[in-house]
Amino acid sequence: RALLDREARHDPLTGLPERRSLERQLDRVFADCLEDGSSMAVVMCDLDRFKRINDRIGHAAGDQALIAIARLMEDHRRETDLCCRYGGEEFALVLERTDGETALRVAERLRAAVQQLAFVVRDRKVPLRISAGVAAFPEIQVKSPQDLLTLADDALYEAKRQGRNRCLLNVGRNRFVDVDGDFTDDDDPQQKLEVPTLFG
Ligand code: GH3
Ligand code: MG
Ligand code: MG
Repeated sequence: RALLDREARHDPLTGLPERRSLERQLDRVFADCLEDGSSMAVVMCDLDRFKRINDRIGHAAGDQALIAIARLMEDHRRETDLCCRYGGEEFALVLERTDGETALRVAERLRAAVQQLAFVVRDRKVPLRISAGVAAFPEIQVKSPQDLLTLADDALYEAKRQGRNRCLLNVGRNRFVDVDGDFTDDDDPQQKLEVPTLFG
Protein backbone atom coordinates (compact mmCIF):
# COMPACT_ATOMS: atom_id res chain seq x y z
CA ARG A 1 0.00 0.00 0.00
CA ALA A 2 2.80 2.41 0.98
CA LEU A 3 4.53 1.60 -2.30
CA LEU A 4 1.31 2.16 -4.18
CA ASP A 5 0.73 5.50 -2.51
CA ARG A 6 4.27 6.68 -3.13
CA GLU A 7 4.22 6.05 -6.84
CA ALA A 8 0.76 7.56 -7.27
CA ARG A 9 0.40 11.11 -8.53
CA HIS A 10 -2.16 12.98 -6.52
CA ASP A 11 -4.80 15.43 -7.60
CA PRO A 12 -3.98 18.77 -5.95
CA LEU A 13 -7.61 19.63 -5.09
CA THR A 14 -8.75 16.43 -3.38
CA GLY A 15 -5.46 14.73 -2.59
CA LEU A 16 -6.75 11.55 -4.24
CA PRO A 17 -4.61 9.60 -6.70
CA GLU A 18 -5.12 10.59 -10.32
CA ARG A 19 -6.56 8.57 -13.16
CA ARG A 20 -3.18 7.16 -14.18
CA SER A 21 -2.65 5.38 -10.87
CA LEU A 22 -6.08 3.86 -11.26
CA GLU A 23 -5.14 2.54 -14.68
CA ARG A 24 -1.95 1.01 -13.30
CA GLN A 25 -3.87 -0.58 -10.43
CA LEU A 26 -6.47 -1.91 -12.87
CA ASP A 27 -3.76 -3.65 -14.89
CA ARG A 28 -2.18 -5.12 -11.76
CA VAL A 29 -5.42 -6.43 -10.28
CA PHE A 30 -6.59 -7.78 -13.65
CA ALA A 31 -3.32 -9.70 -14.00
CA ASP A 32 -3.91 -11.19 -10.52
CA CYS A 33 -7.39 -12.28 -11.53
CA LEU A 34 -6.07 -14.06 -14.60
CA GLU A 35 -3.36 -15.72 -12.54
CA ASP A 36 -5.32 -16.93 -9.51
CA GLY A 37 -8.92 -16.84 -10.69
CA SER A 38 -9.97 -14.14 -8.23
CA SER A 39 -12.57 -11.49 -8.99
CA MET A 40 -12.43 -7.72 -9.23
CA ALA A 41 -14.80 -4.81 -9.67
CA VAL A 42 -14.78 -1.23 -10.84
CA VAL A 43 -17.10 1.49 -9.53
CA MET A 44 -17.52 4.73 -11.47
CA CYS A 45 -19.18 7.56 -9.54
CA ASP A 46 -20.35 10.90 -10.88
CA LEU A 47 -21.90 13.82 -9.03
CA ASP A 48 -25.48 14.49 -10.02
CA ARG A 49 -26.31 17.85 -11.59
CA PHE A 50 -23.05 19.32 -10.42
CA LYS A 51 -23.07 22.04 -13.04
CA ARG A 52 -26.30 23.35 -11.54
CA ILE A 53 -24.77 23.19 -8.03
CA ASN A 54 -21.74 25.17 -9.20
CA ASP A 55 -24.03 27.75 -10.76
CA ARG A 56 -25.89 28.09 -7.47
CA ILE A 57 -23.08 28.13 -4.92
CA GLY A 58 -20.12 29.21 -7.05
CA HIS A 59 -17.10 27.32 -8.32
CA ALA A 60 -15.03 27.74 -5.14
CA ALA A 61 -17.78 26.23 -2.97
CA GLY A 62 -18.17 23.54 -5.65
CA ASP A 63 -14.51 22.71 -5.09
CA GLN A 64 -15.26 22.29 -1.38
CA ALA A 65 -18.04 19.85 -2.27
CA LEU A 66 -15.56 17.79 -4.30
CA ILE A 67 -13.14 17.78 -1.35
CA ALA A 68 -15.90 16.67 1.03
CA ILE A 69 -16.91 13.82 -1.26
CA ALA A 70 -13.32 12.75 -1.79
CA ARG A 71 -12.84 12.56 1.98
CA LEU A 72 -15.98 10.52 2.35
CA MET A 73 -14.78 8.10 -0.34
CA GLU A 74 -11.44 7.72 1.39
CA ASP A 75 -13.21 6.99 4.67
CA HIS A 76 -15.42 4.37 3.04
CA ARG A 77 -12.94 2.42 0.99
CA ARG A 78 -11.28 -0.71 2.35
CA GLU A 79 -7.51 -0.71 2.63
CA THR A 80 -7.02 -2.71 -0.54
CA ASP A 81 -9.39 -0.58 -2.62
CA LEU A 82 -8.01 2.23 -4.72
CA CYS A 83 -10.07 5.37 -4.98
CA CYS A 84 -9.13 8.08 -7.46
CA ARG A 85 -10.38 11.28 -8.96
CA TYR A 86 -11.07 10.08 -12.46
CA GLY A 87 -12.06 13.40 -13.97
CA GLY A 88 -13.73 16.68 -13.01
CA GLU A 89 -16.59 15.45 -10.83
CA GLU A 90 -16.00 11.75 -11.40
CA PHE A 91 -14.46 9.32 -8.96
CA ALA A 92 -13.54 5.69 -9.55
CA LEU A 93 -12.77 2.73 -7.34
CA VAL A 94 -10.93 -0.51 -8.08
CA LEU A 95 -11.97 -3.29 -5.73
CA GLU A 96 -9.73 -6.35 -5.43
CA ARG A 97 -11.15 -9.80 -4.77
CA THR A 98 -14.68 -8.48 -4.95
CA ASP A 99 -17.67 -9.71 -6.93
CA GLY A 100 -20.24 -7.49 -8.61
CA GLU A 101 -22.92 -7.84 -5.96
CA THR A 102 -20.52 -6.84 -3.18
CA ALA A 103 -19.20 -3.92 -5.22
CA LEU A 104 -22.76 -2.77 -5.86
CA ARG A 105 -23.37 -2.76 -2.10
CA VAL A 106 -20.17 -0.74 -1.59
CA ALA A 107 -21.38 1.77 -4.20
CA GLU A 108 -24.80 1.92 -2.58
CA ARG A 109 -23.29 2.65 0.84
CA LEU A 110 -21.29 5.46 -0.72
CA ARG A 111 -24.34 6.87 -2.45
CA ALA A 112 -26.31 6.84 0.82
CA ALA A 113 -23.39 8.43 2.69
CA VAL A 114 -23.19 11.26 0.15
CA GLN A 115 -26.93 11.79 0.47
CA GLN A 116 -26.54 12.12 4.23
CA LEU A 117 -23.57 14.43 4.02
CA ALA A 118 -24.23 17.75 5.72
CA PHE A 119 -22.59 20.10 3.25
CA VAL A 120 -23.22 23.69 4.24
CA VAL A 121 -22.40 26.83 2.25
CA ARG A 122 -23.05 30.25 3.76
CA ASP A 123 -25.33 28.71 6.40
CA ARG A 124 -27.39 26.82 3.84
CA LYS A 125 -27.40 23.06 3.44
CA VAL A 126 -26.58 22.02 -0.11
CA PRO A 127 -27.80 18.53 -1.00
CA LEU A 128 -25.20 16.46 -2.85
CA ARG A 129 -25.99 13.28 -4.77
CA ILE A 130 -24.02 10.75 -6.78
CA SER A 131 -24.85 8.04 -9.27
CA ALA A 132 -22.62 5.01 -9.76
CA GLY A 133 -22.03 2.28 -12.30
CA VAL A 134 -20.41 -1.03 -11.41
CA ALA A 135 -18.83 -3.80 -13.50
CA ALA A 136 -17.05 -6.95 -12.31
CA PHE A 137 -14.72 -9.59 -13.75
CA PRO A 138 -14.98 -12.52 -14.44
CA GLU A 139 -18.75 -12.18 -14.13
CA ILE A 140 -18.50 -10.30 -17.38
CA GLN A 141 -15.79 -11.73 -19.57
CA VAL A 142 -13.66 -8.87 -20.84
CA LYS A 143 -10.40 -8.92 -22.74
CA SER A 144 -8.87 -5.94 -21.02
CA PRO A 145 -9.33 -4.07 -17.75
CA GLN A 146 -10.09 -0.98 -19.83
CA ASP A 147 -13.25 -2.77 -21.01
CA LEU A 148 -14.36 -3.02 -17.37
CA LEU A 149 -14.18 0.76 -17.10
CA THR A 150 -16.31 1.11 -20.20
CA LEU A 151 -18.90 -1.33 -18.82
CA ALA A 152 -19.01 0.50 -15.49
CA ASP A 153 -19.44 3.73 -17.43
CA ASP A 154 -22.36 2.24 -19.37
CA ALA A 155 -24.01 1.34 -16.04
CA LEU A 156 -23.38 4.88 -14.80
CA TYR A 157 -24.97 6.30 -17.93
CA GLU A 158 -28.01 4.07 -17.38
CA ALA A 159 -28.23 5.17 -13.70
CA LYS A 160 -28.31 8.79 -14.89
CA ARG A 161 -30.92 7.94 -17.48
CA GLN A 162 -33.10 6.31 -14.83
CA GLY A 163 -33.17 9.51 -12.80
CA ARG A 164 -29.83 9.71 -10.92
CA ASN A 165 -29.02 9.19 -7.21
CA ARG A 166 -28.79 5.44 -7.84
CA CYS A 167 -26.29 2.64 -8.46
CA LEU A 168 -26.45 -0.03 -11.13
CA LEU A 169 -24.41 -3.14 -11.81
CA ASN A 170 -23.74 -4.04 -15.44
CA VAL A 171 -24.54 -7.74 -15.85
CA GLY A 172 -23.78 -7.81 -19.57
CA ARG A 173 -25.82 -7.69 -22.77
CA ASN A 174 -27.12 -4.24 -21.87
CA ARG A 175 -28.77 -5.49 -18.71
CA PHE A 176 -28.41 -3.74 -15.38
CA VAL A 177 -29.39 -4.67 -11.86
CA ASP A 178 -29.93 -2.43 -8.84
CA VAL A 179 -29.20 -3.15 -5.19
CA ASP A 180 -32.70 -4.61 -4.67
CA GLY A 181 -32.04 -7.11 -7.44
CA ASP A 182 -34.39 -5.45 -9.91
CA PHE A 183 -33.37 -5.78 -13.53
CA THR A 184 -33.50 -3.21 -16.29
CA ASP A 185 -33.08 -4.15 -19.88
CA ASP A 186 -31.59 -1.31 -21.85
CA ASP A 187 -33.18 -2.48 -25.08
CA ASP A 188 -36.34 -3.90 -23.57
CA PRO A 189 -38.94 -3.36 -26.33
CA GLN A 190 -41.66 -2.86 -23.67
CA GLN A 191 -39.68 0.05 -22.27
CA LYS A 192 -39.09 1.63 -25.66
CA LEU A 193 -42.79 1.41 -26.49
CA GLU A 194 -43.85 3.12 -23.30
CA VAL A 195 -45.49 6.41 -24.23
CA PRO A 196 -46.50 9.27 -21.96
CA THR A 197 -50.09 8.89 -20.69
CA LEU A 198 -50.93 12.05 -22.58
CA PHE A 199 -50.74 10.01 -25.77
CA GLY A 200 -51.89 6.74 -24.19
P1 GH3 B 1 -25.06 14.83 -14.52
O1 GH3 B 1 -25.97 14.52 -13.38
O2 GH3 B 1 -25.64 14.40 -15.84
O3 GH3 B 1 -23.70 14.29 -14.30
O4 GH3 B 1 -24.97 16.42 -14.59
P2 GH3 B 1 -23.70 17.33 -14.31
O5 GH3 B 1 -24.14 18.75 -14.29
O6 GH3 B 1 -22.99 16.86 -13.09
O7 GH3 B 1 -22.78 16.99 -15.54
P3 GH3 B 1 -21.99 17.91 -16.56
O8 GH3 B 1 -21.02 16.98 -17.20
O9 GH3 B 1 -22.94 18.67 -17.43
O10 GH3 B 1 -21.23 18.95 -15.67
C1 GH3 B 1 -20.17 18.61 -14.86
C2 GH3 B 1 -19.83 19.81 -14.03
O11 GH3 B 1 -18.77 19.55 -13.12
C3 GH3 B 1 -19.41 20.98 -14.88
C4 GH3 B 1 -18.12 21.47 -14.26
O12 GH3 B 1 -18.15 22.84 -14.07
C5 GH3 B 1 -18.07 20.76 -12.92
N1 GH3 B 1 -16.70 20.52 -12.50
C6 GH3 B 1 -15.80 19.68 -13.06
N2 GH3 B 1 -14.62 19.77 -12.40
C7 GH3 B 1 -14.78 20.67 -11.41
C8 GH3 B 1 -13.92 21.21 -10.39
O13 GH3 B 1 -12.75 20.86 -10.27
N3 GH3 B 1 -14.46 22.12 -9.54
C9 GH3 B 1 -15.75 22.53 -9.64
N4 GH3 B 1 -16.20 23.43 -8.76
N5 GH3 B 1 -16.57 22.07 -10.59
C10 GH3 B 1 -16.11 21.15 -11.46
MG1 MG C 1 -19.29 13.86 -15.32
MG1 MG D 1 -22.14 14.90 -13.09
